[in-house]
Amino acid sequence: MAQRLLRALADVLFPPRCQSCGRTADDLTVGLFCPACAGEIRYITPPVCPACGAPGPTGQAADQLCGDCHRELKPFAVARSVAVYAGGLLRAIHDFKYRRQPGLGRGLGRLITDNNYAGIDPEGFDVVIPVPLHVRRLRERGFNQSLLLARTVATACGIPVDFLSLRRVRDTPPQTLMGRKERQANIRGAFAVARRDRLRDRLRDRQVLLIDDVYTTGSTLAECTRALLDGGAARVGVLTLARAVPEADDPP
Ligand SMILES: [Zn+2]
Ligand SMILES: [Zn+2]
Repeated sequence: MAQRLLRALADVLFPPRCQSCGRTADDLTVGLFCPACAGEIRYITPPVCPACGAPGPTGQAADQLCGDCHRELKPFAVARSVAVYAGGLLRAIHDFKYRRQPGLGRGLGRLITDNNYAGIDPEGFDVVIPVPLHVRRLRERGFNQSLLLARTVATACGIPVDFLSLRRVRDTPPQTLMGRKERQANIRGAFAVARRDRLRDRLRDRQVLLIDDVYTTGSTLAECTRALLDGGAARVGVLTLARAVPEADDPP
């Protein structure tokens, strides 16, 4: 009773605001977006590349690989993302990471779980692993955004989270302004599986669901996957909240 009263009071003093446009609204989707902004989220729907999940043109066959995967298959078995990294979702992810608002993690995680894990069947996996931050970056930010998303996903599907086995062993410059080739070179060897006795064999023959906030070129996720497979994992699937999708007028 007292709790309900406190919450009602808090709603009057600090009315819930849309994370994107800042307007107050009672019916925020996943506690973050007003109906108008929620309606603008561009969810990724089929047809997508069966391997990496890149959205394809209307009418594309379900088994048609995208050009990127056709040239060279990624090391992960499958990747899927919930929505395009743009608009209000991009702003919310920026606030989450760069304006250090870990409280947004739960709602953003719910965008994954409420949207059927972007079509990935979590039943097929034994463990959820977030893309790790280097310890220096973790100290700066205070939290790992991917771990917060991974926790919500893991709780919803009843699979354990393992945030100790996969390590970021090399800090790398931010990749925001880099192209694909530069990203690949920048990230090579940045991850490794912990060699400590207690953790050894933890990944052996495991089916790993690797979680990140944004899929950009896939280089970071590919590099994590290589480290996990080296560490004994049987198969890695990738699930991200958002995906950078080149617009039609962007150069390829
Ligand atoms: Zn809004
Ligand atoms: Zn692909």
